[in-house]
Amino acid sequence: MLLITCPVTRADELVADRRIRSVTNHPTHVALAVECPSCGSVHVYRTGRRWESREAAPAAAAARPAPELARA
Ligand SMILES: [Zn+2]
Repeated sequence: MLLITCPVTRADELVADRRIRSVTNHPTHVALAVECPSCGSVHVYRTGRRWESREAAPAAAAARPAPELARA
């Protein structure tokens, strides 16, 4: 499960994993394309350990950058 805020309706939505369309690793974060239950379109959210550590958040995300990408 994933908690998102829809940029269209500004609603907080709890989204099931099956609504995640794609997961893309980047050097600084993981991009999640999520099908929004609020407005029906696909939004992209950034997550991942390195991204969240900017705000000193715990590493709660399951997806992490691959080791070879983390060095970049
Ligand atoms: Zn939406």
